Amino acid sequence: MANPAKISKNKDGSLNVPDHPIIPFIEGDGIGPDIWRATEAVIDAAVEKTYGGDRKIEWLELPVGEKGYAQTGNYLPQASLDTIETHVVAIKGPLTTPIGKGIRSLNVAIRQRLDLYACVRPVRYIETVPSPMKFPEKINMVVFRENTEDLYAGIEWASGSDEAVAVADFFKSKMGVDLPPASGIGIKPISPANTKRLVASAIGYALENGFSSVTLMHKGNIMKFTEGAFAQWGYEAARDQFADRTITEAQLYDRYDGKAPEGTVVIKDRIADMLFQQVLLRPEEYGVIATPNLNGDYISDALAAQVGGLGMAPGANIGDVCAVFEATHGTAPKYTGLDKVNPGSLILSGAMMLDYMGWKEAGSAVRDAVQAAVKARRVTYDLARQIEGAQEVKCSQFAAAIVGQM
Ligand code: NAD
Repeated sequence: MANPAKISKNKDGSLNVPDHPIIPFIEGDGIGPDIWRATEAVIDAAVEKTYGGDRKIEWLELPVGEKGYAQTGNYLPQASLDTIETHVVAIKGPLTTPIGKGIRSLNVAIRQRLDLYACVRPVRYIETVPSPMKFPEKINMVVFRENTEDLYAGIEWASGSDEAVAVADFFKSKMGVDLPPASGIGIKPISPANTKRLVASAIGYALENGFSSVTLMHKGNIMKFTEGAFAQWGYEAARDQFADRTITEAQLYDRYDGKAPEGTVVIKDRIADMLFQQVLLRPEEYGVIATPNLNGDYISDALAAQVGGLGMAPGANIGDVCAVFEATHGTAPKYTGLDKVNPGSLILSGAMMLDYMGWKEAGSAVRDAVQAAVKARRVTYDLARQIEGAQEVKCSQFAAAIVGQM
């Protein structure tokens, strides 16, 4: 086995992954240590069983969150962020938002400071997990949510604040617009550059992973210059950067009689409220969904609920320089140290990470083993109480059951 080495990026954006890569991890607060231990055991086993000792991950712990504060006096040490950047790929457990320390959210801070502009959430059904849908197995979608702008950029002022009053005065005097008295104000910036890089990464993902469509989800019928522009810029990104690998829905029927040429992705757009109906009624027609921040927040949780809840939904935040894979739930503080909760979200995020590294056989091994373990009905409390005939096991036992299925 070669010495441990960093993953690096080539000029074209592809990754150089050594057989013994160093991968930084943030254990996380609350239930973080429990689910991290479980995740590390499952990922290591999948890599070992898939590559028989030819490949191995060298884990490098980063002090962030409560551990960061204890060790360095800082919840989010710059050195940890730098290490993520220089190592290209990292994984993290959930982090507590420190109350009254002037931090809105550590997770948001990590995304902003590393410019992780795409929040990627795959949604796929795991057999045996109870779902409210009749045919949950038809759902196989991946949401690409823009992570840096829109109403979530945090540009907002409270009702009655000096800033809100000044902005209202500006609207009145310069734009001739009267806002209702004492309005709270939030700004919704959507830019061509940030839209295009998000949509381009969604199209790249669809092409690489065999999805037949990318749907631009927006509310452009009402918000023409932000959400409407998002759709327009999305089509421009497809045309300018993937001319020979994308077609529009109109072209699909006009030129190709409803059958897309091999190796192409169909770009379509849907009004947000309509898409919420469609993913319930005709889920098989949707694959990758690219959307601004707020819509993306709503649709990813709604889709996760369709396949049986947030408990096991994986996620990643990906930028041009680096990518951070993470559990999509929080720190569930009341379960801290009880070895009780479901590690599925972080484990499946680990599988996404292996895919991203090009170790797709190991990623599939993790997903298949999670599926087999759930089917065997030896699961953590959250699933056990929903699945008939299930036996409740601890977090670590669930991880061992997953490893046992490999
Ligand atoms: P939470 O997701 O931590 O917990 C809500 C409830 O969901 C829990 O009480 C538990 O019943 C259930 N739950 C969560 N994860 C589970 C798991 N793995 N297995 C089984 N059940 C699980 O949400 P919260 O209570 O709103 O937030 C607690 C803390 O987490 C806050 O400090 C918040 O800021 C932080 N948070 C962090 C992230 C992140 O790191 N990405 C995300 C959300 C919240």
